[in-house]
Amino acid sequence: MSLPSTDTVVGYPDGDVVSTGTVVHVEALPDGRSAVILDRTAFHPVDPVWPDQPADTGTIAVDGASRPVVDAVVGATDGTVLHVGDAPVRTGTEGWTFVVCHLVDDATGLEPGTPVTVTVDAEARRALSAGHTACHLASLALNDALAGVWTKDVPSDGRGRPNFDQLAITSSRILPDGSVDEYRIGKSLRKKGFAAAEFPARVGEVADAANALLASWVSAGADVPIAIVRDGDGLGERRRWRAGLPDGVVEIPCGGTHLRSLAELTAIAVELELAEGDGALALTMRTTATPA
Ligand SMILES: [Zn+2]
Repeated sequence: MSLPSTDTVVGYPDGDVVSTGTVVHVEALPDGRSAVILDRTAFHPVDPVWPDQPADTGTIAVDGASRPVVDAVVGATDGTVLHVGDAPVRTGTEGWTFVVCHLVDDATGLEPGTPVTVTVDAEARRALSAGHTACHLASLALNDALAGVWTKDVPSDGRGRPNFDQLAITSSRILPDGSVDEYRIGKSLRKKGFAAAEFPARVGEVADAANALLASWVSAGADVPIAIVRDGDGLGERRRWRAGLPDGVVEIPCGGTHLRSLAELTAIAVELELAEGDGALALTMRTTATPA
């Protein structure tokens, strides 16, 4: 059986939760499960390189008989071997093919050429989309609230604010209706001009300012449209989150799923927590989105 040579066409960036497609490859895995690859899918896979948004949950059906998809991961092949969830390259790397691997316990009946229907758990997807949209907006609000803590010029975000989020982030986890972002404020950030010594005394005011900005955005509701824009429909293509905020359109590179507008939320709020250790400050931002 030959390995896939074209990227999986993905519908989740447009909000799809159901798709029909054809099996193009089935890979038996060492743990007894199988990775089923389709020509197209609505299923969002976790990307091990930056695993911020978890995989969708849902089913894959043949002739009306459905079985659970127990996990979904990004697969990559250079034509010699299929890496399932452990690609040695970043998604989108030239010369590689990137595919959505739907992991199933039993691949009986899923031969190449078989037409299938994939159905994503829509409520779980909505909650992750809300969490992801809130995560991006919270990062912009945090950058805004921290603007006065910088003493030097650093690269700015889509709103022209010093991009603390990009410079300091160590991990980002999207949760149902929320997210947790971890930042490290160490020597290199201080050298770049982040006034770390005075920051602990200002955490409260920074959180208040971020929350005020988030509240103003959420109050604009349907007037803040959100979309994923992309160069092509293959899994390996670059995608960007685009939000029409009241003060202008902003974009952030993003491989996940999102709401259509802020009319779907009644609130976004952040909590900031600062901890000290190994010569650095660890900042945790917990974001909560309240569905409308
Ligand atoms: Zn994102």
